[in-house]
Amino acid sequence: RLLNDVQELKGNIRVFCRVRPMLASEIQEQGNIDHIELTGKSINVINESNKTLKYSFDNVFNPEVSQEAVFEDIAQLVQSALDGYNVCIFAYGQTGAGKTYTMEGPDDNTGSEHEGIIPRAMRLIFEKGEEKRKFDWNYDLVVQHVEIYREILQDLLDPRGDLNKKLEIKTVTKSGKGQSVWVKNLSEHPVSQFRQVYNLLKQAKKNRATAATNANERSSRSHSVFMLKIKGHNVESGEITESSLNLIDLAGSERVAETGSSGTRLKEAQKINGSLSELSNVISSLANKDKHIPFRNSKLTFLLMDSLGGNSKTLMLVNVNPTRRATAETINTLRFATTVN
Ligand code: ADP
Ligand code: MG
Repeated sequence: RLLNDVQELKGNIRVFCRVRPMLASEIQEQGNIDHIELTGKSINVINESNKTLKYSFDNVFNPEVSQEAVFEDIAQLVQSALDGYNVCIFAYGQTGAGKTYTMEGPDDNTGSEHEGIIPRAMRLIFEKGEEKRKFDWNYDLVVQHVEIYREILQDLLDPRGDLNKKLEIKTVTKSGKGQSVWVKNLSEHPVSQFRQVYNLLKQAKKNRATAATNANERSSRSHSVFMLKIKGHNVESGEITESSLNLIDLAGSERVAETGSSGTRLKEAQKINGSLSELSNVISSLANKDKHIPFRNSKLTFLLMDSLGGNSKTLMLVNVNPTRRATAETINTLRFATTVN
């Protein structure tokens, strides 16, 4: 149902799919990709019973598509945040499918061809913001970066690296513009050049690492939300815009049953799956133009409430692990993007 909804909403919500390449160790284990076929904007997956399942998207990136080429296809969307649109880009998929590579890039690759969407988006925002100066636009840019782990928000940019600081999502009613969201106690970082963003991303990585007893587990179970608040002011016309660009590396989408966990870990896994299904509920009720949108059912959708509703553009990037071992989860992932509850 989601894909049909999505297609009706074309301008607002898009779903792209990216299949990552096989890693050297995977090629060694099973040879090249043989059960996934990419044809134009569709992906065919051959399941365990040798049945071919077909899923279609607004765009499909094959394993050879570079970071640069992926970004080319979303640059326009990123840029529209400067024109006053609220933009959300989500990376969805099972752990190991390439979400963090797509959003951030591999470790320590700033300035290289492997840079991901977050640094590329920020470079573009500075570049286009500078160009728009000629048309009398000035921008105030503020970065915030949170992680949502077990439904608790943590400030990845806390100046003292204090991840136990209590953050609270609050709403304020704006005259004629509905409600807007802010987070009490969340640090704000004004930026005017890429170098500052680079330092913030480094700091976030450091804070995240100190907080994690098991970095892999934490990253697979938490949502990382990079937020840029944009205030535009046209000094000639007096026009003002307020918008945000949100770049989200979602928790792994793997099912509870497949994690083989029990007790507390099981509870955690259910929670993660819960907030991902709350996200899909919100997206589909937005697409249905439902009267009540269940934003408050999870911290993630509550945090993004004013960026998902109204004047907003959303891109779901569905990341796919191409190994045969991952097939069952791959099918779940692709189904998530095309059906909702
Ligand atoms: P996730 O964040 O979804 O758990 P990662 O982004 O960590 O997955 O990717 C898993 C592994 O695959 C990492 O070693 C990463 O460097 C590699 N990888 C992912 N996508 C690509 C890609 N498009 N090209 C090359 N390597 C990739
Ligand atoms: Mg990751």
